[in-house]
Amino acid sequence: MSLTPLHRVDPEIAALIDAEADRQRRVLRLIPSENYASSAVLEATGSVLTNKYSEGYAGRRYYQGQAHIDAVERLAIKRAKALFGAEHANVQPYSGSPANLAVYHGLLEPGDRILSLSLPHGGHLTHGWKVTISGKVYDVAQYGVRASDQRIDMDEVARMAKAFQPKLIVCGASAYPRVIDFEGFAQIAADVGAYLLADMAHIAGLVAGGVHPSPVPFADVVSTTTHKTLRGPRGGMLLCKKAHRKAIDRGVFPGLQGGPHNHTTAAIAVALGEASTPEFKAYARAVVDNARALAEALLSAGFDLVSGGTDNHLMLLDLTAKGITGKAAAAALDAAGIVGNANSIPFDPRPPMEPSGLRIGTPAITSMGMGVDEMKQVAAWIAAVLAAPEDEAVRARVRGDVEALCQRFPAPGLALS
Ligand SMILES: *Cc1c(COP(=O)(O)O)cnc(C)c1O
Repeated sequence: MSLTPLHRVDPEIAALIDAEADRQRRVLRLIPSENYASSAVLEATGSVLTNKYSEGYAGRRYYQGQAHIDAVERLAIKRAKALFGAEHANVQPYSGSPANLAVYHGLLEPGDRILSLSLPHGGHLTHGWKVTISGKVYDVAQYGVRASDQRIDMDEVARMAKAFQPKLIVCGASAYPRVIDFEGFAQIAADVGAYLLADMAHIAGLVAGGVHPSPVPFADVVSTTTHKTLRGPRGGMLLCKKAHRKAIDRGVFPGLQGGPHNHTTAAIAVALGEASTPEFKAYARAVVDNARALAEALLSAGFDLVSGGTDNHLMLLDLTAKGITGKAAAAALDAAGIVGNANSIPFDPRPPMEPSGLRIGTPAITSMGMGVDEMKQVAAWIAAVLAAPEDEAVRARVRGDVEALCQRFPAPGLALS
């Protein structure tokens, strides 16, 4: 029994947090948007900065007492600009979704046209999907991937841009396993006089580590989360050209948000510091190497992968030929300690709640220190579980093996106290 204040004041919540930490220690977390933040990032997130109100920007606040908060936010901005080579950074968005909304609000008027990647083809909800505020406030057309190779067809994007004349083009994805041609998108946007927003939420850590081309030189605005491959706290960030600085800052505050989450800003600064080290470069490289190894092993085991493989941190298994849905596969694997998520595949004949795909990735298990040898083992376990998804003995055996492996690779930020 621990004697921390939380355990004394609220043993119920403390026990749930302990249980979740234990789960994160014992399973293979393959959801590609998840990771392990470092102890330093967690410490900053849990700091007294949460007590302070700071509406406005450094040097121009609506509340007194900002000496330390201004310094924290300036440091986060300085590190973001240096790490990504950006002209301007805004570190206040509460997360990736509000970051995108702030961009639309800052650059567009209601009813303006947006061209973006559709959700079922790998895009994000906030790129104008019909049930979201972005889909209701703006006039949205969406491109998809080619049926033949499941890659974005840049000629098709150019054709749609000419016909639709959007004011903003969005590129970037949540479930796209291939390199995104930011330069090509910038050319298309320039040809039709549209702004380009590149949403690098999933791949920011890969960009920081130099293993995916950067959108920063090409896009008017780059949005990102800070908690996926970038391995920071749950948050968001916007990078942009100097020309858009005012529109973007106003889009965030007062356009969309109130007081910034200063504890998160501090943790973002810590994560940006960590991401500028040689160790992080090696991490990003290993994430991609591991994803390729996992994809190759799954292909050898007879699985179909959307687009035939991966260039980044994630892959989409098309389970159609295996006669199992993504949801059933995700549930069987979860019972075996292997955690991914059901996901639509391009041109999925099945409904979004029962899709044909499974999305997995390597950011979290690479943070644990696993390498190519472990990826082969993980692929073999996935194949064993999905060959007999109802077989509890197989699941129990794999779960035991998974736990034994996780014990050899302790997760960062979760050291047993
Ligand atoms: C995760 C993600 C977001 C949204 O981030 P939240 O922090 O969950 O709001 C936005 N865009 C893309 C491409 C994402 O993958």
